[in-house]
Amino acid sequence: MQTAYEMVIGLEVHVELKTRTKIFCGCPTAFHAPPNTQCCPVCLGLPGALPVLNRDAVTFAVRAGLATNCRIAGFAVQDRKNYFYPDLPKAYQISQYDHPLCQGGYLDVEAEDGPHRVGITRIHIEEDAGKLLHNDADGTRMDLNRCGVPLIELVTEPDIRSAAQARAFLQKLRAILLCAGVSDCKMNEGSMRCDVNLSVRRRGEKTLGTRTEMKNLNSFAFIVRAIEHEFQRQVDAVSAGESIVQQTRRFDPATGKTYAMRTKENADDYRYFPDPDLPPIFLTDGDIQAIRAALPELPNAKQARYERDFGLSVRDAAALCAQPPLCDAFDAAAPLCKEPLRLLHLMLGELLRLYDGEGDVPVSPARLAALANLLSDRVIHMGAAKQVLQAMLKSPDAPEKIVRDLGLTQVSDTGTLAQAVERVLDENTALVQTYLGGKENALQALMGYVMRDTQGKANPALAASLLKEAVMKRR
Ligand code: ADP
Ligand code: MG
Ligand code: ZN
Repeated sequence: MQTAYEMVIGLEVHVELKTRTKIFCGCPTAFHAPPNTQCCPVCLGLPGALPVLNRDAVTFAVRAGLATNCRIAGFAVQDRKNYFYPDLPKAYQISQYDHPLCQGGYLDVEAEDGPHRVGITRIHIEEDAGKLLHNDADGTRMDLNRCGVPLIELVTEPDIRSAAQARAFLQKLRAILLCAGVSDCKMNEGSMRCDVNLSVRRRGEKTLGTRTEMKNLNSFAFIVRAIEHEFQRQVDAVSAGESIVQQTRRFDPATGKTYAMRTKENADDYRYFPDPDLPPIFLTDGDIQAIRAALPELPNAKQARYERDFGLSVRDAAALCAQPPLCDAFDAAAPLCKEPLRLLHLMLGELLRLYDGEGDVPVSPARLAALANLLSDRVIHMGAAKQVLQAMLKSPDAPEKIVRDLGLTQVSDTGTLAQAVERVLDENTALVQTYLGGKENALQALMGYVMRDTQGKANPALAASLLKEAVMKRR
C-alpha cells in the first residue's frame, strides 16, 4: 500500500565472533557453561589486569569487512566507551570510535519489492557485556561469562525502506557471516542481535525525520513486526501533528507494540578515549591480502555454482544459499550420490522446510546421500523420500530400514502393477474412451488412479508404460 509517508531504516547489528577464546584474555567463549565459570580478572576488569588483543578477533572482523565490500583500515584504534550498568563491571566497554577496522561497504539484497543496495557505514570490534538474569523468585542475578566475548558491530546507512528489505539484508548478512566462518549467528542464543533505527518522512522529502531505536530484536519475525508497528505509530503521530521524540523503544512480542524505554544518549556522553592499555592495530596490505585469500566461498559464488552446475533456478539456488549449513551438507553428500540433483530436489522440497536454520543440519551427509540413492535406484519415489527424511530426523536407522519399516518400498513387480492397471481401467471406462477419443491428458488422470490404487508405491515409469499398453488394447 502506498501512503504519503515512507519509512527510513538504518540497522546496527551485533554479532559474536566464534573465536575459541575471548577478545582480551584466554577464557573460553562456549555458550552453555554454568554462570560465572568463564571469567578471569581481565574479564572483570579488576585493577591491574591487562587486556591482550586476540588476533583471531581482528582476522574475523576483517573477513566480515571483506565479505561485505568494506575498505579495511591499515590503522585502527580501540577506545573506552564509558557508562555504568551492572552487567559491565569495568564501567567501560572496549570498543572502537573514530578509527574502526572496516568502513564504506555495501550489500545488494533481493527483497519481495525488488533489488536494493544497502550501504554499510562501518564494522568495528568490541567486547560483549555480561548478562542479567531476572527471576521472580530470587530477583536479579548476574552471569559474567559473556563479558569479553568478541563482537563485531555493523552499522548500515539509513538506506532501508521496508520491513522486507530489512529482513532480506539481515538474512543475506547472516548467510555471508556463516559462510565466512566468523560467527554461528544464532539469533535464539543472542550471537546475532539487531537494533532497528526508524524514522518516517513524506515521500519525496530529502531530509531525515527524527528516529527511534528498537533494541536487541532477536528473530526475523519480531524485526518485521516491530518495524511495521513502529512505522504505523510514527505515521499516526506525525499525521496528528505531533513530533517524534528521539528515544529508545522496546518491542514486546506479546502485544506487538513498542514502548518507550529512555530518551537517547548522545555519543559524547560516553567520553570515548583510546584505551591506554591497548596499542593501535596496524594491518599491512599483505595482512589484508592474506585474509582475503583465505576467505571461504561466499553465498553469491555458491549460488552461481548451483545455478551453473545443477541448472537450479535463481530462486531455488538463492533459497538454498540462504542456509549455508545446508549447502555444506549437500557439498559433502554430493560425491556419494549417484544423481546429486535428486538430493538437491529433496533438500529444496523438504529439508529446507524441516531445518530451523540454527546450528547443525540434523541429518548427516552420508545418510542424505543414502536416501537420495534410494531415489536414483527407484526403490522409492519423491513423496516417500520426504516421509523417510522426516523419520530420519527422529531415528538413527539407515534410510533403507526406515523405508522397509514404513512399508514404502516401490512396487516394481510387473504382475502386481498390471493387475492394478486393469482394475483402474475397468472402473474408469468413460475416461478410457475420452483418452481413446484423442484427449491426451485423460491418461494423466488414469495414472493418478493407478498411483492411488497402489498407495503411491507404483514405480511410475513402469506403471506408465503398462498403462499405455493396456489402454491401447481397449480400442
Ligand atoms: P548512534 O551512534 O546514536 O547509534 P548513528 O548516527 O551511528 O547513531 O546511527 C545509528 C544508526 O541509525 C545507523 O544505522 C543510521 O543509518 C541510522 N540512522 C541515523 N539517522 C537516522 C534517521 N533519521 N532515520 C533512520 N535511521 C537513522
Ligand atoms: Mg546506536
Ligand atoms: Zn577472562
